Amino acid sequence: MELTANAKINLGLDVLRKRPDGYHDVRMVMQMTGMYDQISLSPLKKPGIRFTVNLPYVPANENNLAYRAAKLLMDEFGVTDGLSIRLSKFIPVAAGLAGGSTDAAAVLKGVNKLFGLGLSEEELMKRGKTIGADVPYCIMGGTALAEGIGEILTPLPDMPMCSILLAKPAISVSTKEVYGALRADAIEKHPDIDGMLDALREGNLRGITERCSNVLEDVTAPQHPIIRAFEEEMKTGGALASIMSGSGPTVFGIFDNYDAAGACRNEMRRKYPSAKIFLTSPVRR
Ligand code: ATP
Repeated sequence: MELTANAKINLGLDVLRKRPDGYHDVRMVMQMTGMYDQISLSPLKKPGIRFTVNLPYVPANENNLAYRAAKLLMDEFGVTDGLSIRLSKFIPVAAGLAGGSTDAAAVLKGVNKLFGLGLSEEELMKRGKTIGADVPYCIMGGTALAEGIGEILTPLPDMPMCSILLAKPAISVSTKEVYGALRADAIEKHPDIDGMLDALREGNLRGITERCSNVLEDVTAPQHPIIRAFEEEMKTGGALASIMSGSGPTVFGIFDNYDAAGACRNEMRRKYPSAKIFLTSPVRR
């Protein structure tokens, strides 16, 4: 069974408060993109999970969210066959694109089908939440509002067609450290998420892009000037909006002109050869 696991971006990301349990209450507009990892599942006679991945620095054991997803369902349903999982990563790792969560989501769906477990999407989402807060959204896909710690989901109207330029600079940020450094009570300007929802309902791309904003940039951008530099590069190249996705460091730009987006991609690849730069578009549910 061949699966694709798509990367997400956050068109808007607001943090409302820090909760007593240390997590943050968020309000995020999530969007699936056409960048994806490939996952191949095949049943084995011998019990257990055999896992391979094409990158040496991605764990090929229980620390991989895709492995964990398969094990969770196979243990619960007492699956006695074995499973081979081959993961080919194309989504940059630790990038703010939910790479691990989307692999887990795809494996939950794939294992459910492969072994005929009969779980509904909702039942898969409930189990996905125990693996990571973004996993339920990755199961749902499309455009969605994510609240709570990211697991309370409301499907939204599709984003109007556009080009999305993704650029991951060759730096690393830790999601945990970014949230740890955020002073949720000191955020001065919260993104207009409600306005963005209205713009989505109207199918108004400019209304959406005018409101693209991510409060986590207040933490990462001052530490890593390359983030603002990428944003400026994309704006100069014609992006309607360019902001950081998730906890970064990937920056995305939204273009209503495919040729301009392609030219901007080429220019950025030339200027920043160590960055990973990819042109894609929104993916619908
Ligand atoms: P998010 O947007 O949810 O913060 P991310 O894109 O920043 O996610 P991931 O690519 O999911 O981050 O990876 C974060 C860490 O998780 C990696 O450093 C890696 O060790 C671990 N990991 C576990 N499973 C996977 C997977 N399937 N793909 C990539 N990384 C994984």
